[in-house]
Amino acid sequence: MYVVATPLGNLADLSPRAAQTLAMVAVIAAEDTRHSRPLLNHYGIRTPLLALHEHNEAAQATRLIERLRQGEDVALISDAGTPAISDPGQRLVAAAHAAGVSVVPMPGPCAAVAALCASGLPSARFAFEGFLPARAAARRAALSALVQEPRTLIFYEAPHRLLALLDDVATVFGDRPTALAKELTKVHEAVINGDATSLKAWLLAEPGRERGEFVLIVQGAPQQAPASDEIDALLGRLLAVLPLKQAVTAAVAVTDAPRNRVYRRALALQAAPAQPTLAPAGSRTGNRAPLDDVPEGEESPGSTGRGAR
Ligand code: SAM
Repeated sequence: MYVVATPLGNLADLSPRAAQTLAMVAVIAAEDTRHSRPLLNHYGIRTPLLALHEHNEAAQATRLIERLRQGEDVALISDAGTPAISDPGQRLVAAAHAAGVSVVPMPGPCAAVAALCASGLPSARFAFEGFLPARAAARRAALSALVQEPRTLIFYEAPHRLLALLDDVATVFGDRPTALAKELTKVHEAVINGDATSLKAWLLAEPGRERGEFVLIVQGAPQQAPASDEIDALLGRLLAVLPLKQAVTAAVAVTDAPRNRVYRRALALQAAPAQPTLAPAGSRTGNRAPLDDVPEGEESPGSTGRGAR
């Protein structure tokens, strides 16, 4: 079974491999067959379509798995973008795995990823939240639950709820850096940066701007830098049982503090008069590290380099 991403708007975004696959399978399971027909016509694809949407997915999955078991190839598409991402398909894919049918992704457009990569907001770690609840109280509660989330947040929203969503984002997240990706790959495409209040003002600045499809991206919660004494306490324990380099690596992983900062604290602790430690007598660890534990290229401030401990 092939899980095939289709264009968000621009028909040229269907990959050649996806087009070939859609042309050669026995049947295409599509969210809305009328919606997908123009795309297939554009590529001259005559494969039969079968409707698979959230209301019939379980029943259709059973029929499609039977066909797959008999050796037919099936492709799954949705109206736009990647199936199973805020779209039907996940249950069919799970059923295919359960039946021992191999599942082949045909990657391509996805509004969340397209918006994130064009937003300029931190993209190393992100949380895709999809659609929030439609009811105002539930939406605000869902946003409030995310207020400490350090990863960049990605939301889908229907145009008629977008202004209300921006109001709620302004209330809950204040002036956090936020981006709005509108009508990606279409004529009225725009990616706007600001905060929730300025983005709302941009939408209202021209009649009709709030119409279309939107992804909203909100930067994650700023991370509190750990206090020096917290880092020192952790390093003190780590240096008692680990060589310096490993202790620094572990402390960086736990605290998320900049490596150079942790490294400087570790050197300072080592230079301080030896404190009683938990290290076993005779251990090579103590709170001193062997010389070759100094990381390449790192020097202690004011030192003459590797030999200065
Ligand atoms: N499966 C799709 C994907 O891979 O992105 C998402 C389908 S979901 C039902 C539809 C939502 O995706 C829209 O309400 C909007 O938030 C977002 N979206 C879809 N197409 C978009 C586009 N061209 N520009 C901006 N957002 C889009």
